[in-house]
Amino acid sequence: MPLSVLIVDDSPLMRRFVERVLRMSGLELAECREATDGLDALAKIRESVPDIVLTDINMPTMDGESLIRCIAEDGDLRSIPVIVISTDRTEFRKSRLMELGAKGYVAKPFNPEILRAQLERVLGSLIDV
Ligand SMILES: [Mg+2]
Repeated sequence: MPLSVLIVDDSPLMRRFVERVLRMSGLELAECREATDGLDALAKIRESVPDIVLTDINMPTMDGESLIRCIAEDGDLRSIPVIVISTDRTEFRKSRLMELGAKGYVAKPFNPEILRAQLERVLGSLIDV
């Protein structure tokens, strides 16, 4: 099934990079939307629910941690898997985000294989390999 993805990052360059890596990873994409922070992401998720959310952590207005918490606390949204893409490599940060509800964690910089492996692990049968 082609994937509907929402990329959340305050950096336009990083959003473009993540999208390019997704396309290079060979996954079939139905749709690849972008949001600039957590609030923008919630608005776009409520417009149309994606198969997966890939989110940065450090963003203005609403950061990735708050976004993950909002998704986890919303009964309509909590089934949407969220993968964090962050420069923060500390185990403490990672385990905190996973406790809050993140399903995967990719440290920047990353290559297509790493992102694809996380997507396959998180989405499983949704992906035609
Ligand atoms: Mg950022």
